[in-house]
Amino acid sequence: MASCELCGRDVDSLKKVKIERATLKACDSCGKMGEEVATESKKKQKKKKSTTRRTKKDVLVNGYGEKLKEAREGQQLSIEEVADDLNEKESLIAKIEKEDLKPDKSLAEKLAKKFDITLYTNPEVADYDTGDSVDNRKATMEDVADIG
Ligand SMILES: [Zn+2]
Repeated sequence: MASCELCGRDVDSLKKVKIERATLKACDSCGKMGEEVATESKKKQKKKKSTTRRTKKDVLVNGYGEKLKEAREGQQLSIEEVADDLNEKESLIAKIEKEDLKPDKSLAEKLAKKFDITLYTNPEVADYDTGDSVDNRKATMEDVADIG
């Protein structure tokens, strides 16, 4: 026989119950007031891994400004039109073309998509798989079809 540490009742079985930081042996009914302590410790503390998804160091390609300018002129677009289309400042695009300014990743991506050029490259990835872009284009076209 054991007696509940809370109500003092004699019961056949007691369970470990956590009540206000104290772990007590309590009967079933008192146990409901607290949090039952699991026999096996479930305290596996997961260490938070710092998100290292972008460990790859992408760098701007050589002559990115010229590349952009050529692509833009190839599509017969003015800087103004490009800026307007991408929701960016005209001066920003102009600076990038002059390589006075490095576009950040998101802008570079927008430009790359628009003109089908590569502004950022990963020197660690030797063979750049261009096969991917075909799939991307297909997906994009399907998305566009959905909207219409
Ligand atoms: Zn009790």
